[in-house]
Amino acid sequence: MPERSRSKPEWQVRIAKERIDILFGEVARTKDTALQRRYMKLAKKIGMRYNVRLGGRKKLFCRHCFYYFGAGAKRRLRNGKIVIACPGCKHVTRQVYKN
Ligand SMILES: [Zn+2]
Repeated sequence: MPERSRSKPEWQVRIAKERIDILFGEVARTKDTALQRRYMKLAKKIGMRYNVRLGGRKKLFCRHCFYYFGAGAKRRLRNGKIVIACPGCKHVTRQVYKN
């Protein structure tokens, strides 16, 4: 696979991935929602800068206000889609349901 010219050096991407892993670990550990938001924003920022995909993990937080859904947010299934109403900003996220 050819490297895109704008991609960062491999070692930087590796460190970025590690930092994102650590941030998500911290988010899952803390109960402080303000702290969770900060970590989420940071993880997304790092991901964008170093072209690191958050993958399934980006579904764990609100795209709008970075509220961490965790296991607590209400999820409803509608027309084959998961509908999550963000408790933080009322923004509704729809995700395609996959097994
Ligand atoms: Zn939100």
